[in-house]
Amino acid sequence: MPIKLDGRQLSLEIQERLKNDIHKGIKEGERPPSLAVIRVGDDPASGVYVKNKEKACERVGIKSLLFHLDNDVSNRDLEELLNKLNLNAEVDGILLQLPLPSQLDAQKLISKISPAKDVDGLHENNVGKLLKNESGLRSCTPAGIINLLNSQKITISGKQIVVIGRSLLVGKPIALMMVNLNGTVTITHSKTTNLKEISNKADILVVAAGKPNLIDSSFIKEGAVVIDVGIHRLKSSNNGTTQLCGDVKLEDVVSKVLAYTPVPGGVGPMTVTMLLVNTIYSWQKRCGLNSTLKDLLP
Ligand code: NAD
Repeated sequence: MPIKLDGRQLSLEIQERLKNDIHKGIKEGERPPSLAVIRVGDDPASGVYVKNKEKACERVGIKSLLFHLDNDVSNRDLEELLNKLNLNAEVDGILLQLPLPSQLDAQKLISKISPAKDVDGLHENNVGKLLKNESGLRSCTPAGIINLLNSQKITISGKQIVVIGRSLLVGKPIALMMVNLNGTVTITHSKTTNLKEISNKADILVVAAGKPNLIDSSFIKEGAVVIDVGIHRLKSSNNGTTQLCGDVKLEDVVSKVLAYTPVPGGVGPMTVTMLLVNTIYSWQKRCGLNSTLKDLLP
């Protein structure tokens, strides 16, 4: 039987640990951790993501502060808000929910977030620390993937890893994390000409292409570990119902693999949990508490 890398279960376990860490800090006389969440406009998907993050904060005891801004907010106004939050000693983390409306420059705005509060791990200082293999806040989705592999003692050192996708959010940081953990990593992307041949060499295949059902069993080596980052809502042509699926045709590959992540319930829940980890890591640092979460930040 292949191993299901169960992100829901692991998230519950990590969140229990986070609750205890917050409890200990409060017993030592500290305020609870807090996360500022900025949502711009009324994109329904962003609304769902923000709600999930707020609920997760509440579950573990992080105070969340929501700033819901109009769709036509300017770069200048958003920068001002970020500055205020940077200076607010009671805010440990700042999350700017992406994507942003087209008049806003996401990368420039992320650069304005204090690196110590950049709980999405996307500021160039934090990306630079990852590149240098120095400790710091880590991009949530890739950090969640490393924890899923660790939870089943799947080693990265010495393995052939293939990453499909080269985004700043997923592809590049997961490749760096795996190199830092002594994997031999190949990054592929939309201009790669022999994707199937390269994928077939992978002991661990990470798929973050954002293309529904791109990968079937012909891309997979027998006994590989397959991590599916993609998440898509597809409408059935028969009855109009929607169904979630990933970038991997799970039913086709599952008999061939050593381990896999389901969609939903694999990488997704871990992304939210790593946001909580980063926020509490930042809170502990800012309050002078012992850092208890380094093992979760690859
Ligand atoms: P992106 O669009 O920024 O990047 C996609 C990458 O895939 C690009 O580098 C592109 O070159 C590559 N690519 C596209 N088509 C390809 C093909 N046919 N062959 C090889 N490479 C190809 O997307 P992203 O932000 O990296 O996200 C990827 C997917 O993961 C999306 O479905 C997104 O919704 C999902 N995602 C899920 C989570 C989660 O928590 N589950 C988090 C982040 C992203």
